[in-house]
Amino acid sequence: MELEKVLKEHFGFQSFKTGQKEVITSILSGQHTLAMLPTGTGKSLCYQLPGLMLKGQVLIISPLLSLMQDQVEHFKKFGEKRVIALNSFLSADERQNALHQLYQYKFIFISPEMLLVPFILRKLQELTISLFVVDEAHCISQWGFDFRPDYSKLGEVRKKFGNPLTLALTATATKKVREDIIRSLDLDEINKIESTIDRPNIGFYVKELLDYREKQGIVCELVANLKKPGIIYFSSKKMAEQMASLLAEKGICRAMAYHGGLDQNTRILIQQQFLYGQLDVICATSAFGMGINKENIRFILHYHMPMQIESYLQEIGRAGRDGKPSIAILLYTPGDEQLPMQLAESELPSEQQIDWLFKMIDEKQMLKDGKITLDIKLMDLGGFSEIQWRIIEDFVINSPLETVSLKQLQSLIKQFVQERLTIKKNNIYRMKKWVESRFCRRENILQYFDETLLNKVNKCCDICGLQIIDYQTSKSSNDPLVKETEQNWKEYLAKILINSELRE
Ligand code: ADP
Ligand code: MG
Repeated sequence: MELEKVLKEHFGFQSFKTGQKEVITSILSGQHTLAMLPTGTGKSLCYQLPGLMLKGQVLIISPLLSLMQDQVEHFKKFGEKRVIALNSFLSADERQNALHQLYQYKFIFISPEMLLVPFILRKLQELTISLFVVDEAHCISQWGFDFRPDYSKLGEVRKKFGNPLTLALTATATKKVREDIIRSLDLDEINKIESTIDRPNIGFYVKELLDYREKQGIVCELVANLKKPGIIYFSSKKMAEQMASLLAEKGICRAMAYHGGLDQNTRILIQQQFLYGQLDVICATSAFGMGINKENIRFILHYHMPMQIESYLQEIGRAGRDGKPSIAILLYTPGDEQLPMQLAESELPSEQQIDWLFKMIDEKQMLKDGKITLDIKLMDLGGFSEIQWRIIEDFVINSPLETVSLKQLQSLIKQFVQERLTIKKNNIYRMKKWVESRFCRRENILQYFDETLLNKVNKCCDICGLQIIDYQTSKSSNDPLVKETEQNWKEYLAKILINSELRE
């Protein structure tokens, strides 16, 4: 059947978005495919549509619970009921039932850690997997900004399914990461479909400020004048809360905070209110945004500098899905890199925590018959966060203790932590260099992803003379920031004039 017809009949879309048809054709011709398409281009359709046409079942590995739930809802919306997400949201009973009726489902979403549970893996091996999908595939690579140790084992798992046809999807992966994905999944013959990461309708603006006080003031001014809706990203939950209250109290706009510290229901409620236009601005941490399909977001404002260019690109990519002009503004105060540095460190177990844990393992004789039985109580006792604990568990469960001594394991973990920290610090440094650079911001980001800018856009970035006023509702020139951008523009014009005079 013609692909366009399937698209219309099953999904109700009139035409394919950039890259979709290429990826789908590649899969349907039986080629392993790596697709790098920007956030919001509809990567899910690249397995949904072929999944319907292929015999057998589609297994989708997805790193985030919220993303999985989102996709399941999405499927149900267009009438596909043969879909399930195997994750910790299911109760033990539900999971048991699902596992015994897996053959009923066409699309099975699973988290990587659940896929590694031997019993579940065996159940899945009984099926005929016609397509093995790795969503957010950059998580495979330790060079990726969101490396997950569980993901690095997907290559082995794939083999256990008898090397099924594979689709790896990502929105942001440098060349090095893309090579890592292919190597990890052991896909020698692979069709790579890579679209540009450039979003021409999003303008870049970096604003350097003296201190946090000034930042708060500027945020109020910007939000008051910019076309809405918008998202303001913070690295701290507290700051997100404070700013949302400030914006609401001053009557600047309808704003709410969104972060991982809120309960599930509140988060869903806020998300819905934003989606349906009852809120103008969300003051969020990075917990907000994955799977948000709001077309008309006009600005993304960063109060804090993100930890790496990849996350920045993902976050700003939520603006302007409707193709209309939108702006990404990053506010920077010298020393802003301290916060991401602290965050990077806090995501990893510290030397002291590791030493303490191994002392406990030794004292409590947790090592028996070449296996460590880790007591979960140690997580709280040692002050480990969930992310930190997962790293420890991963090493402890997967190390062959017949050949590795406890001491060696301890230093292996420390070495891993050091390596991760170096990678994270380099990423922060690279982000900071982008902020401080006087080189075109768009070109600079593209270079990071080994791309060259082919079409220079009109409204590009602050360096190229972009003005914030073009993204505001009222073009009031009394606004100090507007005056300032006009000033920048004048300076820019003057520079061009001088340059052309020099050339003549
Ligand atoms: P990604 O994973 O690339 O970020 P999603 O798969 O979540 O993007 O899709 C983003 C949105 O685009 C969804 O709301 C989806 O329904 C919509 N979409 C996908 N394909 C098309 C299409 N061909 N035409 C219109 N909308 C589409
Ligand atoms: Mg996606």
